[in-house]
Amino acid sequence: MEKKEFWFVVGSQSLYGEDVLKTVEMRAKEMAEELSKVLPYPLIYKVTAKSSKEISDVMKEANYRDECKGVVTWCHTFSPSKMWIDGFDKLQKPYCHLATQYNREIPNEEIDMDYMNLNQSAHGDREHGFIGTRLRMNRKIIAGYWRDKDLVERLSSWMRVCIGVDVSRNMKVMRFGDNMRDVAVTEGDKVEAQKILGWEVNTWAVGDLVAEMNRVSDEEVESLFSLYSTEYLINTDDIDAIKYQAREEIAIRKMMDREGAKAFSNTFQDLYGMEQLPGLASQHLMSLGYGYGGEGDWKVSAMTAIMKAMGDNENGSSAFMEDYTYHLKEGEEYSLGAHMLEVCPSLAGDKPRIETHHLGIGMNRKDPARLVFEGKPGKAIVASLIDMGGRLRLITQDIEAVKPIMDMPNLPVARVMWKAKPSLKTGLECWIAAGGAHHSVLSYDVDSTMMHDWARIMGIEHVHIGEDTTFEAFEKELIVNDIIWKFK
Ligand code: MN
Repeated sequence: MEKKEFWFVVGSQSLYGEDVLKTVEMRAKEMAEELSKVLPYPLIYKVTAKSSKEISDVMKEANYRDECKGVVTWCHTFSPSKMWIDGFDKLQKPYCHLATQYNREIPNEEIDMDYMNLNQSAHGDREHGFIGTRLRMNRKIIAGYWRDKDLVERLSSWMRVCIGVDVSRNMKVMRFGDNMRDVAVTEGDKVEAQKILGWEVNTWAVGDLVAEMNRVSDEEVESLFSLYSTEYLINTDDIDAIKYQAREEIAIRKMMDREGAKAFSNTFQDLYGMEQLPGLASQHLMSLGYGYGGEGDWKVSAMTAIMKAMGDNENGSSAFMEDYTYHLKEGEEYSLGAHMLEVCPSLAGDKPRIETHHLGIGMNRKDPARLVFEGKPGKAIVASLIDMGGRLRLITQDIEAVKPIMDMPNLPVARVMWKAKPSLKTGLECWIAAGGAHHSVLSYDVDSTMMHDWARIMGIEHVHIGEDTTFEAFEKELIVNDIIWKFK
């Protein structure tokens, strides 16, 4: 596993004398150690900064050390902010200003002017905040007592966002075939995506994949088949179809791993030389953390991989999803999401079944094997990244996933059912006004705040549809954003 850590840089100044600086250092180390026990990644104390050079040095080091995924700063004492300008100007890693205090309470008897000078975060964090604002820094600000659960949770979420930033900046997407013919929303500017988000999006011939499939040994296929048998229920007699999917998965994975790609896309319109659209193959690859997008949708593919990495254990419950059909009974309005085949089993509420069914769309010569299951209930979001022409927009919507209200025995694919916020109708009107795609990433463990922070760090627009959204305010936000983003 790659080493991942966050750096804790504490602001002070030389004016206070050695004793105070020693106390600051001791306490900062203690805080970093204590917080590291409850955060998802270690927080490493680096320096009590007293000069411009110390700050520039640590920020430069943070930039080139791959294991450093973000920098957290805090001012135990006052720390004059002109000395932070050069370092902050150079900093390329995500940055969080933690506004906290070592002591929770004011000690009535003990407090005197020495105490005030040592414990003046209230003062120091304001000077520190000004320079972040003056430099127009895209930073996360978290205030509160450092031992509190709420603060730890918010800092944990921000760390996960930074992992998403790191994955994005190192993202390679392997495309098999182009986008589905004539579709608009799956298109996008790959040069802009690389400049802004760091994604290398490139194409490989389907023929190369077929050649790779032909080189996969029967032993490799048998081994993956036996893994499928332990993870899933086999609900078909067509074992050869399942083994064919195993062969596809092994070949796709080998090609991706060779290139360092974490996401891929394909299209049913280009399966030349293949017997089945990869269904089970894509689903199992997603369960391992790879991103996937159907119909050549490389944007949703990369976003799936990024959001998975931001979730629990860096492979959370996030998946490529598509809005398919509605249940519009008044008062009981639901969206039904699915895909032709490719829904990640990390969403499953029951043990997925491997089934084979006819798939009329595309050039399938055999019935493709796929996992069929129901999505689990719970709070979730859907996220869509679209290309507005010259810039990117991220749209997120809060949803409440439910156990599907009917069993749909003739539906041969995995399905997820949800209630959209603030309601199906208003949510849908907002989604359409924003230009959100039919493809999205559905996530149970990444929330809209995390996606907002991610978008801020990446420097792209984010709009959010939630419980309190009204169409009027949302539409106005879109109009204002269009003007603002012209000048960014
Ligand atoms: Mn689709």
